[in-house]
Amino acid sequence: MQTVLIVDDSKFILNLLEDKISEILSVRILKAGSFHAAKEFINKEDIIHVAILDLNLPDANDGDMVDYALSNHIPSIVLTGLMNNQIKQTIIKKDIVDYVYKNNRNSIEYTINIIHRVLSNYDSHVLVLDDPLITHPKEVHILKKIKLNVTTINKNNEIFDLFKNNAEKYSLVLIDDTITGIDGIGLTISLRQQFKKDQLSIIILGTNSNSEEASEFIKFGANDYIVKPYREIELISRVNANLDLLDSFKHAKNLANRDYLSGAYNRRFLFDSGTSIFKKAKRKDEEIAVAMIDIDNFKRINDTYGHDIGDLVIKNTVSILNQALRTSDLMVRFGGEEFCVLLEYISKKDTHVLFEKIRENFVNNSIRVGLDSFTYTVSIGVCYGMEENLEIMIKKSDNNLYHAKEKGKNQVSINV
Ligand code: GH3
Ligand code: MG
Ligand code: MG
Repeated sequence: MQTVLIVDDSKFILNLLEDKISEILSVRILKAGSFHAAKEFINKEDIIHVAILDLNLPDANDGDMVDYALSNHIPSIVLTGLMNNQIKQTIIKKDIVDYVYKNNRNSIEYTINIIHRVLSNYDSHVLVLDDPLITHPKEVHILKKIKLNVTTINKNNEIFDLFKNNAEKYSLVLIDDTITGIDGIGLTISLRQQFKKDQLSIIILGTNSNSEEASEFIKFGANDYIVKPYREIELISRVNANLDLLDSFKHAKNLANRDYLSGAYNRRFLFDSGTSIFKKAKRKDEEIAVAMIDIDNFKRINDTYGHDIGDLVIKNTVSILNQALRTSDLMVRFGGEEFCVLLEYISKKDTHVLFEKIRENFVNNSIRVGLDSFTYTVSIGVCYGMEENLEIMIKKSDNNLYHAKEKGKNQVSINV
């Protein structure tokens, strides 16, 4: 779990931030009411992933807190009351992630958002196409400061070598188009042919010399165009905004692919992702297993214990299946109390052993209702091998499921 440090001499602000942060993020929160208390945390903790720091503390000179956190390599967001231009210039010069006005109506939301961004950045990767003659480009320093993982390259075509095996790894490409030898437009066009805007963000660093250039880049698929020389805080805000956008695309996609009740993937995901697994196996002449798993007498559970307990049984079924399966196996909630599993790289014998074990896990599991408890079983139909298409394999596993039900339920039927 990631750790967040909040420092403010106002108890009200400390508690407010703590409440709001924990509403949205599952992180560990450290609260310090003074410079002294904050120093103790910083010296004791192995890692503090992000800090929100009050600029003015009774036991420190203005800015001392910020300097201390920065010298300990903690990405810092500064909280401040209204400030004059001079203080603002001093703050901006420090290596902070961002600053937030306390008394602004939106400042809490803004603060939570920037915390969330920095915490997510620890797992986000950025590719920077920059000047081969400069060893430590400013961009790299800034991106690292907001905790992004940065890879630098300085030739157009290196990008495609990198992407060959790690296409999913990178969220953002930053291209400095002012450098001779870099063809920003060409690169943007070919990147966009491969990656849609919900997969990869492209930001261009350019000059003001040609007013049409920015719109050209946007037309060809860049997300943003930043004019050099830029202010550090501008690059940070734009990078963060584009990464936020990418995250919300992913979130939306996740919602569309998942079942709301159980969090398991849904039927739609089976036909998307399952079809590519199926095709890959078919091309490589390999056999796969498709299994249909249905809860026995589920209607009776609903009738006896109520719909809420029925829902609980569905969630419990998902966790039993997840525990028994490998993370690479595909498992979806196919419909009501029916689940479909697709397995690759498995023999027919191991398929049999696995589903027999899963059946037994259900037998040995019980659901508590108050002081009472009950057990339930599942029937499993499996189609092992290779067929014309995935739909046929699903149909066949469903026929086998029917067979298992007919023979008395609580059993596994393979290729009957
Ligand atoms: P069998 O052993 O033959 O599979 O019988 P069954 O009772 O399990 O199957 P049946 O198809 O007769 O009934 C399934 C029931 O599952 C009917 C439906 O109301 C209920 N159901 C479907 N989705 C949900 C859900 O999300 N939550 C709850 N609680 N019940 C659901
Ligand atoms: Mg059933
Ligand atoms: Mg059913």
